[in-house]
Amino acid sequence: RNSGRAAGLNPDNGGAIDPKNLKVKLVLLGDSGVGKSCIVLRFVRGQFDPTSKVTVGASFLSQTIALQDSTTVKFEIWDTAGQERYAALAPLYYRGAAVAVVVYDITSPESFAKAQYWVKELQKHGSPDIVMALVGNKADLNEKREVTTQDGIDCAEKNGMFFIETSAKTADNINQLFEEIAKRLPRPTAA
Ligand code: GDP
Repeated sequence: RNSGRAAGLNPDNGGAIDPKNLKVKLVLLGDSGVGKSCIVLRFVRGQFDPTSKVTVGASFLSQTIALQDSTTVKFEIWDTAGQERYAALAPLYYRGAAVAVVVYDITSPESFAKAQYWVKELQKHGSPDIVMALVGNKADLNEKREVTTQDGIDCAEKNGMFFIETSAKTADNINQLFEEIAKRLPRPTAA
């Protein structure tokens, strides 16, 4: 069972974790162009704006959601912003991450292969109890689909990940993605 000190659950109040109000670092991984920034902007701002990029560097966007059981989860969302090329940075990027979201584009088998690479990286560098989601984005482009839903399901199952197909463009399954992640977070036990 969870001891209450789950990796990545960063307390605001100097040590004690408030199990009702979780704050978690979420890292995004995936090939450039799969829609990571668009997913974040859809979730945080409710917009689809392909021209606007999530801030590069040491900052992140955050968004809080409320769950049915009256707990809240504040996501601090880190976008790689292309830094995935600098392998030396990876351990820093993953450090303290409670959640990793690996994104591919359902029209791009290359991006799916790359997603599998990132899953391996996470297994190497991520915290052992990190919650991992596999996201097949651009589900609105179904007529150009080249990665089947079953391929996504199989990959996720093999790696103990949560799987969902989304569209940042139509907003399909974007909120669901974050809600499902929130439900899967290790809950600190109120000691
Ligand atoms: P990133 O490099 O992974 O952050 O990708 P971006 O968020 O910058 O998106 C790359 C391109 O894909 C942009 O031109 C977006 O308009 C497009 N895009 C992102 N999400 C979707 C989606 O769900 N559906 C469609 N059709 N296009 C998308």
